[in-house]
Amino acid sequence: MGKKLTSRAEDYSKWYNELVIKADLAENSGVRGCMVIKPYGFAIWEKMQAALDRMFKDTGHENAYFPLFIPKSYLSKEASHVEGFAKECAVVTHYRLKNADDGKGIVVDEDAKLEEELIVRPTSETIIWDTYRRWIQSYRDLPLKINQWANVVRWEMRTRLFLRTAEFLWQEGHTAHATEKEAVEEAELMMNVYAEFAEKYMAVPVIKGTKTESERFAGALETYCIEALMQDGKALQAGTSHFLGQNFAKAFDVKFASKEGGQEYVWATSWGVSTRLVGALIMTHSDDNGLVLPPKLAPIQVVIVPIYKGIEQLEAISEKVHPLLNDLRAKGISVKYDDRDTHKPGFKFNEYELKGVPVRLAIGQRDLENGTYEVARRDTLQKESVPAENIVAHIEQLLEDMQKNIFERAKQHQQTHITEVDSYDEFKAVLEEKGGFISAHWDGTAATEEKIKEETKATIRCIPLHVKNEEGKCVVTGKPSPYRVLFAKAY
Ligand code: AMP
Repeated sequence: MGKKLTSRAEDYSKWYNELVIKADLAENSGVRGCMVIKPYGFAIWEKMQAALDRMFKDTGHENAYFPLFIPKSYLSKEASHVEGFAKECAVVTHYRLKNADDGKGIVVDEDAKLEEELIVRPTSETIIWDTYRRWIQSYRDLPLKINQWANVVRWEMRTRLFLRTAEFLWQEGHTAHATEKEAVEEAELMMNVYAEFAEKYMAVPVIKGTKTESERFAGALETYCIEALMQDGKALQAGTSHFLGQNFAKAFDVKFASKEGGQEYVWATSWGVSTRLVGALIMTHSDDNGLVLPPKLAPIQVVIVPIYKGIEQLEAISEKVHPLLNDLRAKGISVKYDDRDTHKPGFKFNEYELKGVPVRLAIGQRDLENGTYEVARRDTLQKESVPAENIVAHIEQLLEDMQKNIFERAKQHQQTHITEVDSYDEFKAVLEEKGGFISAHWDGTAATEEKIKEETKATIRCIPLHVKNEEGKCVVTGKPSPYRVLFAKAY
């Protein structure tokens, strides 16, 4: 099992990297900035996918799949979009290799140069809106509400497992609407779906809001977002939903015959969450002993460890445990019985603690005689003895309580880390000493936003939804400001 994790207090960033590796979630690969997601990490992502997919379908969306490659000319069609993504694109220029003339190794075959380069999708608006031109003719074809589960590539310079990788897995929704109002409602709806998923499934409290112009998605008129706060006081953009206006419809000439008989450009949205959410999950709840997973997303919710000497004792315990496995599975609870005789119970306890399994049951000779189980919960590390006849109901209740408890704990942390400040000195002091979100007045200009970013590394995370009007003065320029916005250092 190796030595203990670096503690969060000692070095949060190191703690995170070690945890991802030791809990067997993912590892770096031979490809720059790209990670290998291991089975345990992928199982968490699959659980996220399943819940999100259900929520998308419940709100009227269907899945489809579009090409990995985007012709360069498509990407160029929407000016601000290409400007935003150009700096981080992987480009395919050739389609064949050949043996080197000197017989040493293999080289690109210059005779196989593509007439038009292909971009590995950084996001799919362009290829999808090129397709929508063929799918949308009349108001009867609208709304069109499509989601795609896919990988994308953005040539990120500074990467970190799950949080920011060059290739990442995500879903991207792309919808088309007859009216501006409908498209705005859709963008807001999906932000709300993301917030609900983050809070109910991930147990991660989030702040909903809109991005400032400089933080907006390239090509969007409005970017809605959910922002989470990590335990080290840094913020993380957990999901975005964009109102794209008619920008892509105009760039790709997607018009529809309206009810009134005219030709109008289509209104668009797009929205996405990625494998970054796995990083958010880890950073929000886990502790110095390892992962803490919300029961709703834990690949294994309950593990049962037998404590025995000799095969006879093990058989007696197994006889008791097997019906319990069936009862728990019948309730939809995922349970693992770890009766490996190659590892000691203490080793197993450490392993499941590191891997964040919410509930651990241990059963030994004494429990057999008393008709009990020892139940340990991962969030508080508390242990208790529970009568075998109540065990299923007890576990069901415990899983619910833990889901609530870790949400409340994270919510408490978030609430105590939103600080209102009224001067730039106070702003800098709070940022350094406490971190978290700083609620401050800002004059609304990109210049001031940039100055703050340069001087403090804090960015405007969002203008909170339903922000309350409050006349004030920008902490930097003293110019009038109608409401406070949230700043933070971010991942
Ligand atoms: P965007 O298309 O830029 O709005 O991003 C959509 C989602 O993907 C957001 O929730 C981001 O947090 C996430 N995301 C953006 N870049 C990366 C990356 N390099 N690695 C992982 N997730 C990312």
